[in-house]
Amino acid sequence: MTGKAETLVKGLRQVAAAVCCALVLCGGALHADARDVLRVGIRPLGDGGITQDAQGNFYGLETDFMQTLASYAGMDATFVPGTWEENVARLDAGDIDTIAGVPQSPPFLGRFIYARLPLGAAHGDHGLMMSIETQHLVTPLYYVMRPENGALFARLEQANDNMAANRPHFIDDLARMYRERTPIPVLRLTADERAFLQQHPVIHAVAVLRERPYAYYDENGAFAGEVRKLADRIAYDLGVMVDIQTVESHEEAFHAIADGTADIVLNMDWDISYAETKGLSPTIPFDTYYYTVVKRRGSDLAHPVVACLDSRMTDEVLRARYADEQLQTYPNIEAGLRAVQSGAADLMFLRQETAQYEIWQGAFPDIVSDGTVVFSRQESIGVSKRVAQSLLPILDKEIGYIGPNVLKDYLATHDGGAAKRLSLRSLIYAYPFYFLGGLLAAAVVALLLIYRYIRVRRRHTDEIQALVDTDSYTGLHSHRWFEHGAAEIAAAPLTDGHAWYVVAFGIPNVDTITGMYGQETVSRFVTKFARALERAPWARLAATHASIGHVLCLAATADAEVLAEEVRAFKEAQEYIAVGAMNVHIRVRAGIRALGFPPMDIRKALEQANLAIHDEEDDVRVYNEEMQQEALQKSQIENLQQVAAEREEFQIWLQPKYDLKTKRCIGAEALVRWQSKELGFLPPGKFIPLFERNGFISELDFYNLEHVMKYQKARRAAGLPVVPISVNQSRYHMQEQGYLARMEALVTRYGTDGVELELTETAFDLASREQRENALTVVTALHELGFRIDMDDFGSGYSDLTLLDALPLDVMKLDRSLLLASENSDRMKSVLARMTDLGHALGMTVICEGIETEEQEQMLIACGCEHGQGYLYGKPMPQEAFATFLETHM
Ligand code: C2E
Ligand code: CA
Ligand code: CA
Repeated sequence: MTGKAETLVKGLRQVAAAVCCALVLCGGALHADARDVLRVGIRPLGDGGITQDAQGNFYGLETDFMQTLASYAGMDATFVPGTWEENVARLDAGDIDTIAGVPQSPPFLGRFIYARLPLGAAHGDHGLMMSIETQHLVTPLYYVMRPENGALFARLEQANDNMAANRPHFIDDLARMYRERTPIPVLRLTADERAFLQQHPVIHAVAVLRERPYAYYDENGAFAGEVRKLADRIAYDLGVMVDIQTVESHEEAFHAIADGTADIVLNMDWDISYAETKGLSPTIPFDTYYYTVVKRRGSDLAHPVVACLDSRMTDEVLRARYADEQLQTYPNIEAGLRAVQSGAADLMFLRQETAQYEIWQGAFPDIVSDGTVVFSRQESIGVSKRVAQSLLPILDKEIGYIGPNVLKDYLATHDGGAAKRLSLRSLIYAYPFYFLGGLLAAAVVALLLIYRYIRVRRRHTDEIQALVDTDSYTGLHSHRWFEHGAAEIAAAPLTDGHAWYVVAFGIPNVDTITGMYGQETVSRFVTKFARALERAPWARLAATHASIGHVLCLAATADAEVLAEEVRAFKEAQEYIAVGAMNVHIRVRAGIRALGFPPMDIRKALEQANLAIHDEEDDVRVYNEEMQQEALQKSQIENLQQVAAEREEFQIWLQPKYDLKTKRCIGAEALVRWQSKELGFLPPGKFIPLFERNGFISELDFYNLEHVMKYQKARRAAGLPVVPISVNQSRYHMQEQGYLARMEALVTRYGTDGVELELTETAFDLASREQRENALTVVTALHELGFRIDMDDFGSGYSDLTLLDALPLDVMKLDRSLLLASENSDRMKSVLARMTDLGHALGMTVICEGIETEEQEQMLIACGCEHGQGYLYGKPMPQEAFATFLETHM
């Protein structure tokens, strides 16, 4: 029977192929003629809008879209730039065929006809009159034409439908390319905003329950989904509690806002004017939902009955398309789909993910979706007018900070799961038998239909599965695929003491690299890296997660350290990529996590491997429990830093410097300590490296320097003895905007008397020549401002002796490592002596740090070193203790 069916299918295919051939030939004949030209009016804007290159080509969202649309319509596009007024006049006169990128507002509305689907969207006013409040809003843009030009309009609309069906993500990709606001790198709140959050430690939120995976109750009865994820991020980033009350309908949400039990509505897609009437101001959108049509297989009605939900979207979008009597309201999606399945309604508009989910579930076997995006809605948070003035800017910033990818990634990875795959498969197998039982007696034609149904159905499922299993950036296996594969392989025990490990490779500063070289380069790098990994003998299941710059694999080893060395050698050989004529070095770190047996959850293992990646100490790390602890402490430190500064928890301690011969105190070094209410007493090694990475070091160093300058000025004014105090300056400042201006202001206020700056050698150990020159300029300027400059940690690394010539240095501070090395090596002792000579020859004072014993002191004196610092003379001590110390040791 199946054989017969196959023969029939083959026959049908041959007929179809013949028809296709004929069509292609026809098309070919048409194409031989010169193509029609589509004249498009555009408005060059610069900065995210349309730009023109040296060859006169236009680049931009609108032009890319229209160009592609013209190709779909078998035409060539030419672009005519002009102002709105010029474009309108030209379109009126028939000098151009269409204007691209037009919002639904005067002077176009009512006069010209609009494309049915938007080609993109603009943030803010897009050069047309819109009020300040609408700046937050996203305005959909269309192409417009004269009503007289109906034939061409129909041709373009046909092409547009065709294009939307074949490239459902096209406008999305264009928007990403030209319009996407990249996430804000740090969330900086103003003092007022922070104060507001402190006064409002709980944000009362209401969430409107929707379908999976947006806002729903999961199997355990917990509120879950994208909206929950958003609320969690807000709570984490802003350090507040988000108290969520769930409601079934928008009306209930409005009530909660009106009676003051809620400050925000977490999910709303209403336009601003409607939201305003409900006492709400919308934030910038945190996500865009794409809607698609689902219908009963084969239903193709001129006047369909549309199943819709009672929502704002229904009012706006559906009422514009359909007559009232065609709209049939249902309480939820399932009821709507049941109606479509049974024929009570004909079609329904659903979010793409929802449609996919429902069809996967297989509960509505007669319902299909063609995947076409029909329209899109922006989802924002609605902020109650009571608190909007303070809270709206905070949430806008926060949404910008979260960026567009986090929530999208969540939707993409949500809910797949092996279990579902199994249930889906079994449904497909189960379904034909259910049918078969009833239709055994029926004719071969009926069986053929079922057979075809299974084929289409399976293809559909396989396509969806393939999407999930493929990383769209690289076309290679995705992290989802890796998770399934790794779980399967690691379920079998290994012999010879071998065990399974997941290895995650990551680019630590992927955002910077993407900013400098583009996503394309990062994707290319990730692809190259993963391809090489596929060939590595120790690695299995190479996969990529290119949107975050990750590559994954599985490995078996008896010794994690051996694996770590293999991983290190591999990644070091792969850290290069050609960009044009340049060979760019992209640093990669790796984290390794043992799976154990029976194997732990792969996703959890990957998370922990990521933790190991983010550990700064070594490029390749094997995960251990302490990392979890450290990561926690790091995030605590970062959360508390600002508050600590405000509470003045940072203290300056002073460590004496001595004249080795006279044994008197001749100066001090300022060293910071953090007496934290929450974390206890912290030495600088615990927080300075972190602050150098998140930029907070800038605040801290200024605070310390100003403090020391004040301290010296006060002592002078009181007639107390003063010794010079040196203050450490991070390498971070060498590239910091506005650093010199701030230093100048401090000098004007306090003078530089009795203040020195310590800079470590590594401040000049910089990537580019330009950065290095910057650093030299900064130090020269500091010297000219009147600061004495100490070269700290001299001799700790590979000292670049040319620095001694290029920089105006006053003090050479020998590193403790030199001292330790000299203790049992005569050769090192003479190196130390020569270094001291060198310093003197260049007119510098030489000081050695870390002196703990009298033997060390004697050796230094023998080498000709004049000053010293170390526990032998005094440990760093609070200022009051130092003041007392000075009285007897100066
Ligand atoms: P550093 O500038 O090399 O400071 C010298 C470090 O050696 C200090 O550690 C000091 O307590 C320690 N030390 C002093 N004498 C001896 C000794 O005889 N034996 C031994 N074993 N150690 C000795 P501390 O205070 O933990 O500071 C560590 C680093 O933190 C400093 O290294 C400096 O790079 C950084 N740091 C401290 N305060 C600041 C600051 O205000 N700003 C910046 N940017 N960095 C700071
Ligand atoms: Ca120092
Ligand atoms: Ca030092």
